Amino acid sequence: MSCKSRDEVLELAKSKLDELIKLTSDLIKIPSENPIGSQRDVIDFVKNYLSEAGIPCEEVGCNPDFPCVVAKIGKDEGFSVILNGHVDVVPAGDRAQWEFEPFSGEITDKCILGRGTSDMKAGVAGVLFAMKILAESGAELNGNIRLHIVSDEESGGQFGTKWLCANGYADNADACLVAEPTGHNTIEIGQKGRVDLVLKSYGKSAHGSLAGFKGENAILKLIKVLENINMLREIEGCYKESQAQALINSKLIADQKNGAGTGDVIDHVSANVGMIKGGTRPNMVPDYCEVTVDLRLPIGVGAKEIEDCVKKVIEKSGVTGVEYELDFQTFGNYTEIDAPIVEAIKKHAEALWKDEVLPAYQWASSDARDYRVKDIPTIQYGPSNTVGIHSYNETVDIEDVKNAGQIYLLSLCDLMGIAD
Ligand SMILES: [Zn+2]
Repeated sequence: MSCKSRDEVLELAKSKLDELIKLTSDLIKIPSENPIGSQRDVIDFVKNYLSEAGIPCEEVGCNPDFPCVVAKIGKDEGFSVILNGHVDVVPAGDRAQWEFEPFSGEITDKCILGRGTSDMKAGVAGVLFAMKILAESGAELNGNIRLHIVSDEESGGQFGTKWLCANGYADNADACLVAEPTGHNTIEIGQKGRVDLVLKSYGKSAHGSLAGFKGENAILKLIKVLENINMLREIEGCYKESQAQALINSKLIADQKNGAGTGDVIDHVSANVGMIKGGTRPNMVPDYCEVTVDLRLPIGVGAKEIEDCVKKVIEKSGVTGVEYELDFQTFGNYTEIDAPIVEAIKKHAEALWKDEVLPAYQWASSDARDYRVKDIPTIQYGPSNTVGIHSYNETVDIEDVKNAGQIYLLSLCDLMGIAD
């Protein structure tokens, strides 16, 4: 079968939407927990699916336990778009908390059930399906579509997207869609950065029975510093005029999802005192204490601002013998709101859902940064029921999956110059 126009491509997709649902369910039936599980079976499944669709693919990577699959359709020149998804899932955890078998892949009237449905095997199924339909349709692509399926996202990610980006697989791409769960009315176009702040305090040991008279308590010193840690949360992001709308959208979404007032998390530094260790025995005055603070940096905040503020926090606490280390992992990153991939997804999602779809920034971070640091306009958009993600009773709505598959396909038609 060969069809040329977008309408024909869409008709072909519509006739096969049940296949998309079955594909999602089949992926769920292959346990791919990370950590603990193997990624071999799920990766073999993806390779098989592509081969049967007549799409040449290749297994690549640096760790045989966490391989990646890459594939490409279209021609070498022209617009190049990457579709990214991860097939590893977080462990199912305590089975007693599940109301259904987490790897059954059961399809009900409205939903598909199981670990990884929303995060993110439905998204993976959507991009595989869109690519297969385009290949099968025979429509001529004015450019190419590259597929990046990874199996290491949930536990570090160094063998997945980070590796692909570092090894040339994302070079010269013009756009990237990561099919992570966002829900149908949000397109994620930016995210916060992250730095681990380690505070270390040094004291003097003494017999615990003489505490207050002898020695210098390193734990109490660090507590004084932590009393001022919220000074870091006053640091604000810095945005261009063209980012104003996305910022408004992001705060609105954060308020809706996390409660009124939480929108400030988008454009301010967040600081979580996450780990503390100190002391040796109850009967000894502790001479060492260490705290790790997870700081998330809004777009536009750099290393110097953070470092200056950390110094002020320590200074204000009035204690001596406190040192700090800053381990910068990423900075805030974003894609312009008018990038073709943002506009394409927004247009088709709004048309299909008859609902407003808002480009916005995340309060957390994801693999999208690896593409953005290479200056590739990158978005996240994928089907999702938030409730079960990284929790129990994970599901995804069938309608959401079917619509996402069509939105991906129609957006790819736009980017690949397939006319009505
Ligand atoms: Zn995910």
